[in-house]
Amino acid sequence: MNAHVSQGGWPVLVLNADFRPLSYYPLSLWSWQDAIKAVFLDRVNIVEHYDHAVRSPSFEFQLPSVVSLKSFVKPTTHPAFTRFNVFLRDRFSCQYCGSHDDLTFDHIIPRSKGGQTTWENVVAACSPCNLRKGNMTTQQARMFPRQTAFAPTVHQLHRNGRLFPPNYLHGSWLDYLYWDTELDP
Ligand SMILES: [Zn+2]
Repeated sequence: MNAHVSQGGWPVLVLNADFRPLSYYPLSLWSWQDAIKAVFLDRVNIVEHYDHAVRSPSFEFQLPSVVSLKSFVKPTTHPAFTRFNVFLRDRFSCQYCGSHDDLTFDHIIPRSKGGQTTWENVVAACSPCNLRKGNMTTQQARMFPRQTAFAPTVHQLHRNGRLFPPNYLHGSWLDYLYWDTELDP
C-alpha cells in the first residue's frame, strides 16, 4: 500500500556506526541493490530484514531493511537547504497568516530587489499572501514573517519532523528513529 514497496523498491534505512540514521532530512535510504552491494563490500552490517528474499537459481538473499555502517561517518550538523526543509522549519504554515493550505515560497526581500535564495530570506507562504506581497518588501507590504527566517540545526528540524512524519516508514525502522529526542521531552 505504499509507493516504495509497490514499485518493488524495498528501501533500506542506513544507520551510522552509532545506530542513528546517517541523515534525517532527507532520511538516509538506499535501494536494496546498493545495500546488498555494501554488504558484499563489507562496509555495512545487516541490522533488520524484510520478510522478503530475492532469488536466482543459485542464490537466495533475504532483503535487509536496516543496515549500519561499519565505520562512523561524522554527521552533518547543517541540514540541506531544500524546499521540504524550509517547509519543515516553518512547520508547513504560512509565515504571514498561519495557513497550512496552498503553500509556496516567499523571498522576504524580493529577488527583483536583490534578495537571495537562502535560509535567511525564504519562508513558507500561502499563495494568497505570496500574491499580496508580490514584489514588495515587508515594509512596503506591511507583512512581516511570524519568525525571523533562520538556518535551522538538524536538531531543530528533527523536533519539527516528529510533528510531520514521512508518509512511509517501515515497521523495522521505528526503533532507530527518534529515540535520541525522546530522551529530552
Ligand atoms: Zn498566508
